[in-house]
Amino acid sequence: MRPTDLTLAQGLDALERREISSLELTDAFLDAIERLNPRLNAYITVTAEAAREAARASDARRAKGEAGPLEGIPLGIKDLFCTEGVRTTAASRILGPFVPPYESTVTANLKRDGAVFLGKLNMDEFAMGSSNLTSAFGPVENPWSRANDPSKRLVPGGSSGGSAAAVAARLAMGATATDTGGSIRQPAAFCGIAGIKPTYGRCSRWGIVAFASSLDQAGPVARTVEDNAILLSSMAGHDPKDSTSANLPVPDFRAAVARGVKGLRIGVPEEYRLPGMPAEIEALWEQGLAWLREAGAETVPISLPHTKYALPTYYVVAPAEASSNLARYDGVRFGLRENGADLKDLYERTRARGFGAEVRRRIMIGTYVLSAGYYDAYYLKAQKVRALIRRDFEEAWAQCDAIVTPATPSAAFAMDEKQDDPVTMYLNDVFTVTANLAGLPGLAVPAGLDAQGLPLGLQVIGRAFDEETVFAVGGAIERAAGFDAKPGIMA
Ligand code: GLN
Repeated sequence: MRPTDLTLAQGLDALERREISSLELTDAFLDAIERLNPRLNAYITVTAEAAREAARASDARRAKGEAGPLEGIPLGIKDLFCTEGVRTTAASRILGPFVPPYESTVTANLKRDGAVFLGKLNMDEFAMGSSNLTSAFGPVENPWSRANDPSKRLVPGGSSGGSAAAVAARLAMGATATDTGGSIRQPAAFCGIAGIKPTYGRCSRWGIVAFASSLDQAGPVARTVEDNAILLSSMAGHDPKDSTSANLPVPDFRAAVARGVKGLRIGVPEEYRLPGMPAEIEALWEQGLAWLREAGAETVPISLPHTKYALPTYYVVAPAEASSNLARYDGVRFGLRENGADLKDLYERTRARGFGAEVRRRIMIGTYVLSAGYYDAYYLKAQKVRALIRRDFEEAWAQCDAIVTPATPSAAFAMDEKQDDPVTMYLNDVFTVTANLAGLPGLAVPAGLDAQGLPLGLQVIGRAFDEETVFAVGGAIERAAGFDAKPGIMA
């Protein structure tokens, strides 16, 4: 097997048995990036020399018997995580040549455990989007394509489009990502890989460029559920630098993957059966539930009655928080500066030049819903509905231990579809935003292909801080699905 084809778990075994060194593994990925990144555009910045140096240091640690849990594993980092001494862009022009003088807690945790960073991954600007088309560094191509129209370039999803495309195309063994409304789960589903948004508070947000602070969570994407569990164990943990980080022990997520689902009650929310949903997605959902029943789980119909308000609620709360978080990009303190006649002119020119159209749209919506006179009608109302959505889940946990739904309402779409209509784009998040609004963990797992040969994913939602059950259900779906299809573009 080629080194880039190894799963992360297999890579750790191969390193441990000295069948390969971290330097060899890292070089294999750097070669793959050199060959395929010009086409896929998954990486904004490749840190080849630093990666080789880190790999050598890792090999030395392993030789001394000091191997960490991720020792020598080459990873890609979403360009929303501040990395000390390495340019961090949030895929926006407004950060200019900004090089953070500090490391985010999540990436510091990965380094502590021995991971090697290959570079910074493309994404939608400030993580706002579902297609990676809003990046100031150009779109990312999905390594998968339609059987009947292979030359049509498809989106990898977003906002973590670079993370998902890189992992699917074997340009990284795993990657960091973030999810505010679906940005881990939707691109994972579009690219035929797995990704988990953990419970809000499981991973520190310190050093991650903020989008909507009450919704943002970091998580991994990787090819298997087990690889996600391994990565999350390193990424997670209490951090006094983030007051919303949970002071709870990190369980053995990897062990949970193989736990099985015997006796578990799997909730099936009737409100997620959308009119007009493609028959293939409906069929895959049924298939997933049948697999879980065969593995010993029971499926129970549940109701999440406020689901229909989730998207409008999200698209008030997220822009509101974004508009205040993004106020800091003023051309004075860091990043891009466009000089003007006076201070106000400088602000206006910098922000007009630095932010792309989608980010400007969010700032305007957010400023509007927070403004005097509209605050009660929009923002306060959205907060109240958010509480109801959260309560829906709390009531559902009386009847079930996990919830299974489709991950996305469609397979990956083409770069030239959906772009001109923001609302159509927002509909991508219909199955994922609820978990963010309620703060719950959600895992996307590849479960099958559509008629065009494109991957489709299922989503597992769990109780707060019960990622273990989510991993157990995801593991069971993965084993039953036996998903082994590969994208057309691959190292
Ligand atoms: N697609 C959603 C949005 O545009 C979610 C993005 C995210 O999770 N970062 O807001």
